[in-house]
Order: sequence, then structure tokens, then C-alpha cells
Amino acid sequence: MKEGTLFVISAPSGAGKSTLCRELLRKVSRLKLSVSYTTRPPRKGEVNDVHYTFAGEKKFMNMIHKGEFAEWAKVHGNFYGTSLRRLKKISKEGYDILLDIDVQGAGQLRKTCRSAVYIFILPPSLKILKQRLADRKTEDEETISMRLERAKDEIAGHKDYDYVIINDKLERAYRELESIIIAERARTKRLDPERIKGLMQK
Ligand code: ADP
Ligand code: 5GP
Repeated sequence: MKEGTLFVISAPSGAGKSTLCRELLRKVSRLKLSVSYTTRPPRKGEVNDVHYTFAGEKKFMNMIHKGEFAEWAKVHGNFYGTSLRRLKKISKEGYDILLDIDVQGAGQLRKTCRSAVYIFILPPSLKILKQRLADRKTEDEETISMRLERAKDEIAGHKDYDYVIINDKLERAYRELESIIIAERARTKRLDPERIKGLMQK
């Protein structure tokens, strides 16, 4: 069986990545999110092993040393990482994989995983980004300022991605994102040769 395609999505915090990814996972078949490990404490409503696997720094460091991450990075003062074992498991089950990771992590993957599809979500403006972060009410003012400062550097990284989506109107941005997944799946190089072989019989 062919390996699943990795769809890597990055965006500055507050751009709408989680909202768009949630919708994708609800509507697109054969697509699964790889749940990341993080040392960040859970936010209200976040469930262990669903939103993240919440781990202590000691366990996380141990996993780094054992080479258990496909990529990892320190983001906003906390560690985040993608488990290699989880990627292999999802792919083996016949799914494509959605990765919601930051620009540093995507940069690491780009070196080893050239067949992945890299998608960047941009906010319509920094002003709107600030507003969305404030309205979300999950971070205090100091954290929001830190995230906005970092957003400028992250946005500069968009040039290394295959696709850029501006999340102005949610519905329009979603349609664009879904179209990318559908079109990438139809690429000749991603077709399963076994399927074509079966199609030619009889
Ligand atoms: P991220 O995962 O990139 O940090 P979220 O998906 O949590 O961002 O979105 C940040 C906030 O902005 C949320 O409150 C979300 O409901 C809102 N939001 C997302 N996309 C849009 C949009 N296109 N228009 C208006 N609000 C949006
Ligand atoms: P949050 O704490 O808001 O959920 O996520 C903060 C940032 O960490 C987001 O940009 C998110 O994409 C990124 N992130 C989440 N999981 C991973 C991961 O496994 N690896 C990397 N490099 N970044 C991640």
C-alpha cells in the first residue's frame, strides 16, 4: 500500500489554523491529525491525547534523546514535537496525515520529507490577528503581545511553503484549503500503482 501524504500546516498563532484544521478533519475523509506531544499545560477544555499529549519536560527530553520525534521545537517557551511512531501508525492505517506545527518544525521536516505538502495560513492583517487573539480569550495580554511579536518572524517564513492561504472569510479560506488537499491527492505521483493495476484488469 502507498504511504499516506503528509499535509503540514503552519500559521502565526490566532490566524485560524485550528479552526480550519478542525473543519478539514470533520469533512475530508481519509485524513487524520497526528496528535503532538507538548510540555505546555492544558488549556481549559483540552483533553490529553486528543488535543495534545501533555508531557513533563523530563519525558519530552528523554523522547528527543531517543530520536522519537520526526521534528520538535520550542514555541512560545514550551516544547512541541511530532511522534515518528504516530506518523507511521496513521500512515499504516491508510490515512493521509495532517500536521499542525510551527515554522521551525516545518523547516526541519522539509529537509527529510520532501514529498509532504506545506501550507501556510496568513491572517488578513496584524491588526485582525491581534483582534482574533484577544477575542479568543485563551491568553493574557502579555502572552498575546509575545505571540504578535513572534508572528512577524513567522509570517516571513511563508515563502518556503508550497501554498499560502489568506484566512479573511472563513468559508472561502476553508474551500481553498480543501481544494488543495483534493488536488494534491490527485497528483499522478501519489496514485497507488496497485489501484491502477486493478483498474486495468478485466
Ligand atoms: P490558531 O489555531 O491559528 O491559533 P484559531 O483557529 O484558534 O487560531 O482562531 C483564532 C480565533 O479567530 C478564534 O476565536 C476563531 O474562532 C477566530 N477565527 C478564525 N478564523 C476566522 C475568520 N476567518 N474570521 C473571523 N474569525 C476567525
Ligand atoms: P498552541 O500552544 O497554541 O496549541 O500551539 C502553539 C504553536 O505550536 C502552534 O503554532 C502550533 O502549530 C505549534 N505546534 C503544535 N504542535 C507542534 C509540534 O508537534 N511541533 C511543532 N514544531 N510545533 C507544534
